Amino acid sequence: MNHNRKILIIGAGIAGPTICYWLKKYGFDPTLIERSKQLRTGGHAIDIRGIALDVVKKMDIYDSIRAKRTSVLSTRYVDADGQTLSEEQGEKARFRAGDDVEIVRGELVKILLQAISDVPCHFHKEIISLAQKDQFVEVTFKDGHIERYDLVMAADGLHSSTRGMTFLDEDCQFFNLGSYLSIFSIPNYLHLNRIDVSYGKDQKFIAMNSDKDPDRAFVTFAFRSKKVLSDIANERGQKKCLRDWFYDLGWESNKILELMNDSDDFYFDVMAQIKMDSWTKGRVALLGDAGYCASPLSGQGTNLAIVGAYILAGELKSAEGDYSVAFKRYNELMRPFVNATQDLGVWVGGSFLAEGEVSKEIIEQRSSVIMGKIKMVANSISLPDYV
Ligand SMILES: Cc1cc2nc3c(=O)[nH]c(=O)nc-3n(C[C@H](O)[C@H](O)[C@H](O)COP(=O)(O)OP(=O)(O)OC[C@H]3O[C@@H](n4cnc5c(N)ncnc54)[C@H](O)[C@@H]3O)c2cc1C
Repeated sequence: MNHNRKILIIGAGIAGPTICYWLKKYGFDPTLIERSKQLRTGGHAIDIRGIALDVVKKMDIYDSIRAKRTSVLSTRYVDADGQTLSEEQGEKARFRAGDDVEIVRGELVKILLQAISDVPCHFHKEIISLAQKDQFVEVTFKDGHIERYDLVMAADGLHSSTRGMTFLDEDCQFFNLGSYLSIFSIPNYLHLNRIDVSYGKDQKFIAMNSDKDPDRAFVTFAFRSKKVLSDIANERGQKKCLRDWFYDLGWESNKILELMNDSDDFYFDVMAQIKMDSWTKGRVALLGDAGYCASPLSGQGTNLAIVGAYILAGELKSAEGDYSVAFKRYNELMRPFVNATQDLGVWVGGSFLAEGEVSKEIIEQRSSVIMGKIKMVANSISLPDYV
């Protein structure tokens, strides 16, 4: 009989629902809370690759994910005048191989939540403090309610507030990669049809694609800055920053900046990694981006979140609820996978946001190296079988 069954999971992104699924399956009693008012649909596209595919197949949701996958079929790299430098077709164009699948984040979260319909899930709910005691964790919710849990697992993303409530500043390094990322949608004025068009120069990168909705195009801006940027605390400052960096860069930069002003789904964040010697403290564990964000540059954050959730739940089951044994194993098993993924994130950042002009040769060589590295890293952990 498992003890430490009553578990609070914070964050209904990727890692949170995934660990709920496995904890429930193993006889634990998880409750999921999410800060946002409702499930956020849409968002950026994410890839599920390598070992994480085995986890979603074990969860019986692979076919549902595949049915909702994106359908951008080619990537074209252009120069400042819009002339094609290189074009890649099919799965290779998106750094995918075999069963790898790309899906919009909101669609994946929806599928994960459907898979845990037997787990209590409360939206618009967050905690303001937690106090660890010998036998339980006392949690205070924002609405004033106080509740005791045996364990707390925080999957509340890169800017996790649970991490700050549990760990000291010196336990955790927010490692700024010196790069910034913005994604938003605009009218598909170039009439792109299931194609991604990219342009890069001087450590700046622009991409635009259109997928299932022929009227919308999704823009990505990424750039590297030698100094940490200030004045980017709000959307106004962030949009100004993009205008400063991308105006007159070439290709469609100026038209995109003009249309950006009216975007209603604007996302902007620093690309950062979370580095910690341990992802657990007492009765609290971190998983996914909250504990070991590798940055979007790694193309692996979802995979880390899915695999981390599977291993944390599985180790708790194997240890029959003895969290000190389970957390130690979780830290040991995940460490090499996290390190390899974070190293990949740094490397991809350096190669994508390179100095100077980008030539056809550079693009083609970079693509094949990235493909090889991603495949290796995505498969660089073996999944224990906990059933
Ligand atoms: C532009 C972009 C492109 C990416 N591309 C890829 C890719 O190709 N492949 C890939 O594998 N990964 C990719 N990633 C990374 C991937 O999206 C993340 O690594 C992954 O979503 C992490 O999952 P998570 O569950 O840990 O955190 P998140 O998905 O960030 O979810 C955290 C959840 O916690 C909630 N929350 C936050 N604070 C609180 C709180 N205090 N209380 C309650 N709830 C809270 C949030 O609302 C959110 O729902 C990309 C990321 C970005 C931004």
